[in-house]
Amino acid sequence: MHLIARSKLENQIDQIIEALRKVKGAYSIVILTNDKLIAARDPNGFRPLSLGKINGSFVIASETCAFDINKIEFIRDVEPGEIIVIDKNTKTVNEIRSFKLFDESIPIKHCVFEYIYFSRPDSKIFGSNVDKIRRKLGKVLANHHPVLPDKPEEKVIVISVPDSSNTVAIGYQNQLIKMGINSKHEIGLIRSHYIGRTFIIPGQAKREVGVRIKFNTVKGVLEDKKVVLIDDSIVRGTTSKQLVKLIKEAGARSVHLRISSPQIIHPCYYGMDFPSKEELIVNRFNGNINEIENYLDVDSLEYMTLDQMLEAMIDHVPSEFCTACFSGDYPIPVNTNFEKSVYEE
Ligand code: SF4
Repeated sequence: MHLIARSKLENQIDQIIEALRKVKGAYSIVILTNDKLIAARDPNGFRPLSLGKINGSFVIASETCAFDINKIEFIRDVEPGEIIVIDKNTKTVNEIRSFKLFDESIPIKHCVFEYIYFSRPDSKIFGSNVDKIRRKLGKVLANHHPVLPDKPEEKVIVISVPDSSNTVAIGYQNQLIKMGINSKHEIGLIRSHYIGRTFIIPGQAKREVGVRIKFNTVKGVLEDKKVVLIDDSIVRGTTSKQLVKLIKEAGARSVHLRISSPQIIHPCYYGMDFPSKEELIVNRFNGNINEIENYLDVDSLEYMTLDQMLEAMIDHVPSEFCTACFSGDYPIPVNTNFEKSVYEE
């Protein structure tokens, strides 16, 4: 906004284009002026942004599930590096003005975490259904990290941390069955929908209370069972630790945690509010899985490797993704002193 306001150019669209050309990083933005709807996406396409249409009017949303709810027709994604301008005279898709702001050689770098956690499974982002990719993540996770029953007649119980891991758990358990492993998918945790995502609630004590308010267990499903708990990621470990405690209090004989992403080692500088490096559970225990298992009080813990996670990204090539929080490979150079200065304030 500041760059647009300071522009010396006359035309509003030129002012926005000039500003966006100066901005580096991840953004998907919508601007509403007196007479225009303007949408733009960064040249790497980190975040999703979609265009829809209803009753001759155009709509912009970050996820297509918003369109479905309102019976809006999905038209297309706003392309990486594209700015689109819709005004009151725009009646058809062909009349939408589109500008490509950047060099076409800039590589696509979608945030892989959108598929892992952020987006809803009923959305279609980056050209693929989130649900389809999460099921595939579950399948790959089961192939590499299955959990076997203790006795031949027993079934392992596969449950998910709702809601983001629900479809991963379905994919995981389906694959266990295909592998001939006796198992059952159950709803073992119930999530309250009146409290937001805990990893963005500030303050450790508040977060712990938040987990208790947010989840409850279904005792009949968990009692005396070997439980596989599927989660999409572990950030600080607060939620996982509390959940394992709840599941064990409900009578589970053992809890085996399976994570449908690799270890998060690095902060995100592209808009996701991850904690500082020191607060990430993997860094607190220097990547020592046994120590993390002890801390979380799980009987086993397995993450996906980077390659395993990318194997699940069907319809995409691995190089299309930002994986910086797992790999440290930042597609856009970052000033790491920034993190320090923010957290020291
Ligand atoms: S660092 Fe992680 S969360 Fe941030 S944009 Fe990259 S993949 Fe997404």
